[in-house]
Amino acid sequence: MAAALTPTNISNLLSVDEEYPAPKIVVDQVQNKHWKADYERSVKDPEGFWADEARKFTWTKPWTKVLDWDGVHHQWFVGAKTNITINALDRHANSERKNRAAFIWLGEDGTEKIVTYGQLYRQVCRFANGLKSLGVGKGDRVIIYMPLTMEGVISMLACARIGAIHSVVYAGLGHTALRDRINDAQAKVIIAGDVGFRRGKTVPLKPIVDEALDGIEFVEKVVVYSRQPTELTGIEVDFNDLMKFPPECPAEEMDAEDPLYLLYTSGSTGKPKGVLHVHGGYMVGITYHLQSYFDVGERDVFWCTSDIGWVVGHSYIVYGPLCAGATTLFREGAIDYPNPGIAWEIVERYAVSKIFTAPTALRMFMRFGEQYPQKYDLTSLRLIACAGEPLNPEAWRWAQTYLAGDGKWGYVVDNWWQTELGGPAIGTPATYPMRPGKCGVSVPGSVADVVDADGKSVPPGVGGRLVLKQPFPYMLRTVWGDAARYERDWQVIPGCYITGDVALKDKDGYITVLGRADDVLNVAGHRIGTAEVESALVSHPAVAEAAAIGIPDQLKGETIKCFVQCRAGHTPSEALAAALTEHVRRELGPIATPSAIEFVAGLPKTRSGKILRRFLKAKEMGVDAGDVSTMEG
Ligand code: AMP
Repeated sequence: MAAALTPTNISNLLSVDEEYPAPKIVVDQVQNKHWKADYERSVKDPEGFWADEARKFTWTKPWTKVLDWDGVHHQWFVGAKTNITINALDRHANSERKNRAAFIWLGEDGTEKIVTYGQLYRQVCRFANGLKSLGVGKGDRVIIYMPLTMEGVISMLACARIGAIHSVVYAGLGHTALRDRINDAQAKVIIAGDVGFRRGKTVPLKPIVDEALDGIEFVEKVVVYSRQPTELTGIEVDFNDLMKFPPECPAEEMDAEDPLYLLYTSGSTGKPKGVLHVHGGYMVGITYHLQSYFDVGERDVFWCTSDIGWVVGHSYIVYGPLCAGATTLFREGAIDYPNPGIAWEIVERYAVSKIFTAPTALRMFMRFGEQYPQKYDLTSLRLIACAGEPLNPEAWRWAQTYLAGDGKWGYVVDNWWQTELGGPAIGTPATYPMRPGKCGVSVPGSVADVVDADGKSVPPGVGGRLVLKQPFPYMLRTVWGDAARYERDWQVIPGCYITGDVALKDKDGYITVLGRADDVLNVAGHRIGTAEVESALVSHPAVAEAAAIGIPDQLKGETIKCFVQCRAGHTPSEALAAALTEHVRRELGPIATPSAIEFVAGLPKTRSGKILRRFLKAKEMGVDAGDVSTMEG
């Protein structure tokens, strides 16, 4: 047992010696076998590397300069013109791929809709013309508050087609959150569904829109996508009426740096901010990574379990897979409804080859047990990529064993990014060994490092700030209406973009993300990531999910309080709390021993599945939790 927990032996405890080679079948089939060379070139010659990638796309005017960079602001493919939808739609609709499925949409009740590239092109054009008829044009902001449907995706693409800036708000956020975003974006038009469907129930959305809009004068039209009889009044327009417009709509020519979308961050760290992504560099970067890191291309049926309300949905339900010409499956509702095996039934039925999901989903599947995946043929699955929060070693091992057939057919990999980044910056590529507890290495274009407060790299195993040392084309350009908030992130440590996360690096450059800076505890001068404590707890057979927070303590600075949800078949008791305390103490050393364990029926989470430790902490200390607008109700 460790006598004291220093940063160095924290990393040892995070299974530094545990390494699993990439399965042979995956390595053999991966399309990009020169990932490492790509990486090296992207660091030595970023402009040359990204220019070569950009040449694979259709531009209506070439760039005069690849990168313009003043240490804070960066512009890519300067002077070039395109429209992301030319590359997402026209290129396929005008080729032999036009009859290939772009999307397979599923409803919880088993409804299936298949849309080909040719059909999608025409539907997007119709709706784009419809939006134009409402006076929507280049630069106008459109808020999209839609359930996860084809119509939601069409709304996004139609905005992009005519140069309007879309801002999707997850259909499930409350009216205050929606109102804040409408106000911040000064939206001209709202596109909203009347209802969504989840866990067999109808979820009303329209009343939330009505309440959000109460007293707002500047919104000109509300386009309503009705799935139930809905009476339209005032400024409301029927979605289906806008689908009756002609099926040809030339793409608005956009500057590479023109805004494509605003996306408000999930709110797990204070006030939401409107992150701005652009047409050109975003398209090039996220498509490159989808093809080369996630190995997704025309041959794949790719299932992204996210929602269009989150950045993963933007990049890897909509824009990335379309630019890559893949077939994407997406499904409205809960991934475990109507039964805990439904996800695996779908994988078998559609021969899904790649999945993008979140650790919280893997932990849920682990809680249900391996009997569910074992009922189905999952041998089509080559890659399961996870992002959004720390992937606990225990959850990785379980998924690798039961979902990926212990490497006989597949591989579970971690990757790290943020709304601000648009796509991955750190990850374990399909050809690299996986080190559970570590996200992986910097991906092409990204120079991730762990530094001290002065920006100096810290030695392996020592905790520090996770920063990016060069810009890449798919990063945010600014924060809408708050340039200073964007600029600060490049100015705190000159030459570094501050991610807000705290991390450790091992000697080979594998990075462990410990959590947000505010999720790192300081117990008697020692850094302990909430993620580490939680991973330790989750590795106990009685624990399904756990959250750790720091409680101020006069002697130690902070002590650790843990909230624990038991796995089925285990009951909370004092004896179990004592056993868990001892378990963490054994795993991480005496310094990391929780001072209290509270059993809970569920943990408060953002809609995107991140545990809201800030909320738990505020509640614990009897103070206002601040903005919890993205919390799951
Ligand atoms: P969001 O912008 O809501 O997607 O949240 C981004 C944050 O999620 C990051 O700053 C990290 O704190 C966390 N995150 C994302 N991916 C990972 C990962 N693979 N491992 C650990 N944390 C992650």
